[in-house]
Amino acid sequence: MPQLSTRVQKFTDSVIRRMTRISDEYGAINLSQGFPDFDPPKEMMDALAKAAYEGPHQYPITFGAQNFREALAKKQEKAIHRKIDPNTEIVVTCGGTEAMMAAMMTICNPGDKVMVFSPFYENYGADAILSGAEPIYIPLVPPYYDFDINLIEDGFKQGAKAIIICNPSNPCGKVFTEEELRAIGDLVLKYDAFAVTDEVYEHMVYAPNHHTCMASLPGMYEHTITCNSLSKTFSITGWRLGYLIGPAEVMEGAKKVHDFLTVGAAAPLQEAAVVGLNFPDSYYEELLKTYTEKRDYFLAGLDSIGLKHNIPQGTYFVMIDIQEFLDLPQFAGYTDLEFCEWMIRNVGVAAVPGSSFFKEEVNHLIRLHFARRKETIDEAISRLGKLKELVKC
Ligand code: GLN
Repeated sequence: MPQLSTRVQKFTDSVIRRMTRISDEYGAINLSQGFPDFDPPKEMMDALAKAAYEGPHQYPITFGAQNFREALAKKQEKAIHRKIDPNTEIVVTCGGTEAMMAAMMTICNPGDKVMVFSPFYENYGADAILSGAEPIYIPLVPPYYDFDINLIEDGFKQGAKAIIICNPSNPCGKVFTEEELRAIGDLVLKYDAFAVTDEVYEHMVYAPNHHTCMASLPGMYEHTITCNSLSKTFSITGWRLGYLIGPAEVMEGAKKVHDFLTVGAAAPLQEAAVVGLNFPDSYYEELLKTYTEKRDYFLAGLDSIGLKHNIPQGTYFVMIDIQEFLDLPQFAGYTDLEFCEWMIRNVGVAAVPGSSFFKEEVNHLIRLHFARRKETIDEAISRLGKLKELVKC
């Protein structure tokens, strides 16, 4: 058989999505890939049913249906604190995944350097390879996931064209403070570079932390490509609705990339999602309240069974320290991936191995998420509670 491209040989499939497949195979409780096990808002499901009969069913405008972009602009103007032109400054994509890829393809030439924090959401590795960019990794140091601003300046001195910022951060739950973003933003401006932000968890930021959009800071709009999605905010990860916001010249490039990658996001789903985008602010307050309760409930559950974890400032992910298990003779030589596979088979709970998020050699962390109904969390904690008994047998 002829050889495949060298490009596809440079990365594996997504470990996050692989864990879902293994979890399903064994009927485990899936706390690996982050998606809710509860319904989206009823108004959106009703709107989708209506769209099934009334349309639209044909191609939308490639960069997003007009009413969808207008609703997005209206919603995000509040976060970015400026007018957003729905015709020239927004590109609707198939999920946040395509938004990130389109952003990278739009700004990177092969060989361009791009800074990525480690730990990072695993897509950014593949995004860099597919767009030809070379990542420079900036460590986020546990337990508070702080970073050294001097390393970022070094990266720009080495010619980095952009820095990717996941805020709030998947997988570590860090929420970048306004001061941190200003410090990074100052360097982006000083070196005439881009910030590419992934803000899909913008509405899951737990008090006293608060979310700041990089694009809202003075001078930064022209240098920021904001990637976002409706998946998490409206519990519709399968609808695949994402978007980019940025200056018109950059969006002009992104529109072309997007057009030839996917043509457009599903028309009936955009139509139904407009209803959600027009929800009042109380919707987001309620969503945050729900996730704050889930976070507190899940962390209390982990404490009750003695599993060590971080306290996420945002997102719905928690990192668990499994070193105490790896130190046991029966797990000698186990990687975190092997531990996760063992856990799916023997405990019935799926997690993502931490190594898929780190550039550094990290083998002692796994990621769980709590976008689950209370009953599911109870059952997951009860199963995880047996972990310690099980390994002593
Ligand atoms: N962001 C989700 C996670 O990290 C998954 C997103 C996806 O699989 N497209 O689990």
